This record gives sequence, C-alpha cells and structure tokens, in this order.
Amino acid sequence: MRMLAAVMYEQGLPAPFAKSQPFRIEEVELDGPGEGELLVEVRGAGLCHSDLTVLEGMRKRPLPVVGGHEGAAIVREVGRGVTGFQVGDHVTMSPVAGCGQCRFCQARRPGLCKAVTAAKAQGMLGTGVRRLRFPDGGLLNHYSGISVYAQYAVVTPQSLIKIDKSVPLDIAALFGCAVVTGAGAVFNSAQVKPGSTVAILGLGGVGLTAVMAARESGAAKIIGLDVLPSKFDLAQAVGATHCFDVREPETVQQVRDLSNGGVDYAFEISGQRNALDMAQQITAPGGEVIGVGVGRATAMFTVAHLPWVNDERVLRGSYMGGGVPQDDIPRYVDMYLRGQLPVDRLRSEPLRFDQLNEGFDRLSAGSVVRQILLPHGSI
Ligand SMILES: [Zn+2]
Ligand SMILES: [Zn+2]
Repeated sequence: MRMLAAVMYEQGLPAPFAKSQPFRIEEVELDGPGEGELLVEVRGAGLCHSDLTVLEGMRKRPLPVVGGHEGAAIVREVGRGVTGFQVGDHVTMSPVAGCGQCRFCQARRPGLCKAVTAAKAQGMLGTGVRRLRFPDGGLLNHYSGISVYAQYAVVTPQSLIKIDKSVPLDIAALFGCAVVTGAGAVFNSAQVKPGSTVAILGLGGVGLTAVMAARESGAAKIIGLDVLPSKFDLAQAVGATHCFDVREPETVQQVRDLSNGGVDYAFEISGQRNALDMAQQITAPGGEVIGVGVGRATAMFTVAHLPWVNDERVLRGSYMGGGVPQDDIPRYVDMYLRGQLPVDRLRSEPLRFDQLNEGFDRLSAGSVVRQILLPHGSI
C-alpha cells in the first residue's frame, strides 16, 4: 500500500532541524504482512531523546530509514501463523522483540536477544525481511523493527503488546519506550526498596516515569536533577521530593547532605558522561548507579576502582526497562488506569507530520516532555 512516512536520508544534519529537515515526509510503499507478521495502523508515535541522538549521528543507522520507535496502533491484518491477535486489537509497539528461542529470551530477557537485534540493526524486521520500499522499488529500512513515523507498519507479533481499549492511543504510545524504560529501571532493574533514597538525573519522559515509579515503590526521598529548572514543577507534581539544578556547583554536596551521605539509587537517564560522573558522586557506599540513558556508541566513562570495591558499589545497565514488555506494559497500563503512574502528565502537544522536524528542535531545547506524532492527523 501507498502511505505517508517520515524518511531520514542522512544523520548529523545541523540544528535547527526545522531548517535542515532530517525527516522528509514522503509517500512510500509498504508490503505484506508476510508469514509471522501483522499490519497495524499507527495512531500515535512519540519523539524520544534517543531519536534525537540518532538524528545527531551519535549512533549510526542503515539509511534511508523510516524513523520512530515508540508507538500505538490498531491491528488491521493478521498474517499467517500469527496467534493471539485479532483485527481491531489496540496495541502498544515496542522496540524490544526477542526471538523467543535464544538463551536470553529463555531467561525472559528479550532486550538482550542478539538474533533479533542483528536483524534490526540492518534495518530489517525480526523476520529478516524489509516490507518498506520506495515507490520506484528502492531500498528503505525499518527502524527498531517498528518504524512508527508512518501511517501503517508491518511488524512481528513480538513487537506488539495488546492493551486495554480504554487507554487513548496517544497515551498508549508512551508505554512503548518512555514508560517501560523508566518504570522498568525502577521496578525490574534496581528493584527500589521502600524507605530508600533515589536520585533521577534527567527529567524527560523516561526520568519522570522513573520518578512516578520510585514514589510507587515507597522511596522516602526522590531527588530530581536536571539542567533545566523549568522541569522541576512537573517533577514535583509527580513525586519528586526535591529538585536541583546540576549546573550549580553545590548540587553534589546538597544531595549528599539531604540523603545522609548519598542516595541508595542514582538513575542516569540523560546519557551524558558528566551526569554518570555525578551519579557516582552522589551515591552512598553500598548504593547503586543505574545507567538508563543511551550515549554515543563509542563513549567510555570512568569508575574509581577502590571505592567501587571497598564501598560495594553496583553499576547496573538497564535497557528498555530490563523486562518482558508483554508482561510489564499491561501491568503499567493498569497502574496508569488506577492513577499510580499518571503518565498522561508526560504528554506535550500532538504533532502533524509537517511539524516533526520542528518537534525535535523543541525536544532538543527541553521545552517539551513527550510530543506525540499523529500520523493520520488525529488520534
Ligand atoms: Zn525511546
Ligand atoms: Zn532471542
């Protein structure tokens, strides 16, 4: 079928993106679905900081590609051999989709699955094929196995999580990356204990969800840290007990004083190396630094050897919430419906296709939390 999609031809174009136009809105062809695949109609797609780092060229992707890795959709066609889905189902779309067979998938850690990751890294679906192409037949890549900056997508069932139809689809989109990553870091990766102290470095969509999850875990102090104090009101509204500007020289000492010598858990969400350094400085002996934000593919960071050993510090990576999206997302949706994870607060204004590039300028400036592209112009 012919549809509108946002195609990226080149990474590393200069800001402002409204001018350099890294995404071109074009008509492309979508084939399928083949065996083991489904066709979905995309109704909402989030703009994530990790998309921004790809625009900036920090992590290379096969090009040209249809972008977008956080979305919600309605199932329109179920391919042969797919079970568990029906036409009309509402789904959240996730970039985590394991093969189901390998040692990691068997251990219920699909985010570590190398088989599917390799296919996705080459711009293919988990089934090892491409269903996107240009009208002239030219090669067009999938992004994260879902490519949701498009009106429709062909995907594997592992990328889909069936959700309650009472959730508006623009909010449902947030669960695919922001919510599952932020909540999963707290609930699955760190397993934050009641009464503990928590710091969250980076108060975007993922960070604010982590704040909500830390509150839900019963953390006694939840300290929000960001370079933009304009984010503090919302952070405090969803559970942060204190907020500090990381650019102020006394911030490290203030956090240490406030947490009786350091926090139990520091979640680094921004993907910035200096924020990882700060996360280590504000963590107590016996505490844990959880790296959640993605940075440049070649980036390294430093760990002080002796305190790491003697103070029994833990450095933990947490990728996309570290769980099984099919189990976790329905649980987070229930928590949202009960008011425990008020993730509708993350939602900034919706975007049309022609506003997508400009939306990334706003995300880069930090003036928005989660903008949702509506590929059909409405939810
Ligand atoms: Zn994301
Ligand atoms: Zn696997």
